[in-house]
Formats: sequence, C-alpha cells, structure tokens
Amino acid sequence: MQNNHPELFIISAPSGAGKSTLIRKLLSSTNNFELSVSATTRPPRDGEINGVDYQFISENEFKSLINKNAFIEYAKVHNHKYGTLKSYIDRKFIEGKSIILDIDVQGFMQIKESNISNTSIFVLPPSFKVLKQRLEDRRSDTREAIDKRMTNARKEIQCCDEYDFIIVNDEIDITMKALKEIIFEKRNDSDKNLIEKILIDMLSY
Ligand code: ADP
Ligand code: 5GP
Repeated sequence: MQNNHPELFIISAPSGAGKSTLIRKLLSSTNNFELSVSATTRPPRDGEINGVDYQFISENEFKSLINKNAFIEYAKVHNHKYGTLKSYIDRKFIEGKSIILDIDVQGFMQIKESNISNTSIFVLPPSFKVLKQRLEDRRSDTREAIDKRMTNARKEIQCCDEYDFIIVNDEIDITMKALKEIIFEKRNDSDKNLIEKILIDMLSY
C-alpha cells in the first residue's frame, strides 16, 4: 500500500502499549514510509546505531540545536531530552516519503499547537494489568523503571482525547488492521465504550 502524497503521522502511547511493535510491522508492510530519526541526549542502548535509531548527541549539542530553532518539537522524557529535527522532516518530504513520528504527548501537543498538518494516533493497552505484564515480559526495565512507566502511563492516557484517533492494541492483527485503516483511509471504528472502560481501569490503580 502506498500514500499518494507525503504526510506526517504522529503515534504516541504509554511505554509498553506496543507502539514500537506496531510501527515496525507498519514499516515492513508498506512503501514510502519512514520513521523519523530524532535527536536525543539519552545514551545508546545495546544494538542501537547512531543515525539509525537516534542521533545521539550531548546536552550542549542539544541546547545549540534549540538555539538554532532546529526542532519542530522537543521534550524531556524519562530524564532525557528528545527532539524531532526539521531538517530530517524536510528532506524526507522532498524525497516524497510519509513520516511516522514516535513521540511523547508533550511533543505531540507542541505540533498540535503549530500549523504543521498531521494525523495523530494514540495507542492504548487493553488494561492496566496487561500493560504491566507486557513491560515485565519485555525484560528491558528494572522494577523501579516499570513502576515509573506505569505512573507516567496514567498521566499520558489523560491526553488521549487530544489525538485524532485512539486505537486499542489488544490482538495485534486487529490493531494493525485498524492502524492501516486510519493511515490509508482516515477511518476508525474503535469502540468508544471500550476506550472509556480502559481509561477508567487505567486510572483506578
Ligand atoms: P512500546 O514501544 O509501546 O514501549 P513495545 O512495542 O516494545 O512497546 O511492546 C511491549 C511488549 O509488548 C513487547 O514485548 C511486545 O512484543 C509486546 N506486544 C506488543 N503488542 C502486543 C500485542 N498486541 N499482544 C501481545 N504482546 C504485545
Ligand atoms: P526511548 O528512550 O525508549 O527510545 O523513548 C522514550 C520515549 O521518548 C518514547 O515515549 C518516545 O515516543 C519518546 N520520543 C522519542 N523521540 C522523541 C522525540 O523526538 N520527541 C519527543 N517529544 N519524544 C520522543
């Protein structure tokens, strides 16, 4: 599947909801989409490549980019700074590519307040318990980090109504179908009652 003209898509989710999994699947099954490579002050994790996963830069370099107005948005997330580079977006648009931004709620709100045209999608987990289980099963975080991510999750989901679309990542194939319908048809049949129930569940802990 292919979009006719380049577009900007923003995907946000609480950590562990499955955003990276969904984006990976989307990129492997579509043409002409690129995941934006953000700049970050976070150190690389094992296996991450500079220029591919992120542009890994120092605090000073990050400050200098802010001063040069080089970001379309930037934010501090889990103690590190992250920003979307204007130059990257401009280059990919010239190449005719649609871009996926995997950014947090703060960054999304900055883009929403600007005049940059975009389609935004918030991914919810099916429940608090499932989100916690996914973080535990992923085995990439300490107990303390998981607790912090769960606390952040409760804050982030309170902004989900600001997004154009909300999807629930329960059964992966169904979620992928919903994601593609949004991207290619700007259509979404999400169950509003289910979303309401999930929000109540997430906030009740
Ligand atoms: P995020 O990028 O939102 O932090 P990940 O994509 O890393 O989340 O997913 C968190 C964990 O949940 C991973 O171990 C992933 O394999 C798993 N996962 C993602 N989507 C689903 C799903 N629909 N059903 C079951 N497990 C999932
Ligand atoms: P990670 O360090 O796990 O790769 O990413 C942590 C969080 O930072 C994720 O929620 C991700 O969406 C967010 N993030 C990554 N790049 C950017 C960015 O350029 N801007 C903003 N605002 N958030 C980002």
